[in-house]
Amino acid sequence: MKVSEPVSKSIKGRVHSFESFSALDGPGIRYVIFFSGCPMRCVFCHNVDMIESLPGTYNEYSVAEVMKRIERARPFFTCSRSGGGITLSGGEPFFQFEFMLNLLKECKRLKIHTVVDTNLYTSPREIETVSKWVDLFLVGLKHIDNQKHIELTGKDNTDILKNISVLDSIKKRFWLRYVVIPGITDDKKDIQQLATFLSDFNHLELVELLPYHCLGLRKWEALGKSYALPDVKPPTAEEMLRVKKVFQAFDLPVDVGDVEVLGI
Ligand code: SF4
Repeated sequence: MKVSEPVSKSIKGRVHSFESFSALDGPGIRYVIFFSGCPMRCVFCHNVDMIESLPGTYNEYSVAEVMKRIERARPFFTCSRSGGGITLSGGEPFFQFEFMLNLLKECKRLKIHTVVDTNLYTSPREIETVSKWVDLFLVGLKHIDNQKHIELTGKDNTDILKNISVLDSIKKRFWLRYVVIPGITDDKKDIQQLATFLSDFNHLELVELLPYHCLGLRKWEALGKSYALPDVKPPTAEEMLRVKKVFQAFDLPVDVGDVEVLGI
């Protein structure tokens, strides 16, 4: 499909849910659309009910139907002084590429700020195609070490790292989101390797460190799936600050995400 074609009226997307007032999914107040379906299988996924599009876990919507919901919520996210908008999350938005593209085109036609929260497990071509209608990408990298990435997600990170370079090369603003899991993603050498990798980029606006939590555990139980990290505890504030300091040492803009909100 050429990007100049009009928005498709027939295309439908699988949407798990909507969140009308989020302060954690990009700048300002966000209206979040959670896509159903994801190519990864992260062992710590807190949205495990969005990974597979199982019957009963999603509804189908046309772009027009989603836009109606967005328009109703618009007074709330546009009143945000820091500049709100919509965020496509999931699940994985790129997993429903045509639906995502059409939704973004419609949002930009209506001058709505757009964020895509993604694992970037996709092709450079799709990134370049969609980026014209994306103001900011939130890239959730699970691990810099490939073997550890495979163990955590079931997927190789080689193309993901290349795709982060693609984003930067096409001058797209992005935040790098990284979940700090004690004993799994917080090894100092790994963090230094990640910081070294990120130091090359000009359009990285923020490294957002997110403290691991096990709030999604009940969803795993409800689906009859066993959770791989039952004994792993969230990081302490000190552990989060230790990781933050490594990024600071590389002069990278870094934030400890919702540590203050959670009060850990
Ligand atoms: S990429 Fe996100 S939605 Fe997909 S499995 Fe991992 S944590 Fe879950």
